[in-house]
Amino acid sequence: MPGFSLLKPLGFFYAVVLILVLMYLWYSGKWKQKAGWIILLVSTALGFVIASPLAPHQFQELMLRNVQALGVSITIAAIGLLIIFLLTFLSGRFFCGYLCPVGAVQELASRVPVPKLVLRQKVPLMVVRGVVFVLFLYMAWVLSSSLLDYFGISDFFARILTTGSIVFVVMLLVSMVFYRPFCRVICPYGLLLSLGASTSLFALQRTDACIDCKCCDKSCPVDEAKPNDRKAECYLCGRCTGVCPVAGALQYKRRTGNEKS
Ligand code: SF4
Ligand code: SF4
Ligand code: SF4
Repeated sequence: MPGFSLLKPLGFFYAVVLILVLMYLWYSGKWKQKAGWIILLVSTALGFVIASPLAPHQFQELMLRNVQALGVSITIAAIGLLIIFLLTFLSGRFFCGYLCPVGAVQELASRVPVPKLVLRQKVPLMVVRGVVFVLFLYMAWVLSSSLLDYFGISDFFARILTTGSIVFVVMLLVSMVFYRPFCRVICPYGLLLSLGASTSLFALQRTDACIDCKCCDKSCPVDEAKPNDRKAECYLCGRCTGVCPVAGALQYKRRTGNEKS
């Protein structure tokens, strides 16, 4: 199989196992933010080792039906992405939050302590990413070209200096101020995962212990901590749980549909 490397299935199994482990740790209340830092560093490092195709690119190459770049058959690549989607539908965006190297490196950048810009209007962002998604499909299906190549993910993780990798470095600098610009505006696979997460079976929920202090709202970089937010863009970053002053007021649990408001 052209381009096949054992590292690719290894990266996939790393993601699947860690999604389940993270889900267990959050659900059982054993999650520690320190573990998050370690996983983010490991995921970023794996991105540099595996280099390509990372999830957004895998989705792109699938749309282009580029078996050479995928390194596996179309069917296997599609099944891999489908499994991550189903796990996101089950548990929320642990994959995006911690395991996708492209997301992990932006998450690390977002933790640099500089003033942050939080956009509270979700609709404009949704419109822009919808337009980007249509453009992405148009380029792939009609022009047989690759939108994501302009953002240099592969070049960045392969440590190749190109215009694209410079664009991605700029995006990382933006990530320090504006949370995960690539994930929230550009990533076409992320758009699908956000749809899965918006109806995920498990999600962060306020409980009856909540005193409505709004600390979680203020700490959330994507404005998803309010009661009954769909959590489509919740990356399970833990900022809200970290600032909640009441034990048990914010829990990762089965979505009930009538979260305390
Ligand atoms: S949105 Fe895309 S780039 Fe961001 S973490 Fe998810 S799959 Fe990776
Ligand atoms: S602060 Fe809370 S609600 Fe907001 S993205 Fe992070 S985990 Fe999700
Ligand atoms: S969940 Fe916690 S941080 Fe959020 S409003 Fe309730 S008590 Fe405050």
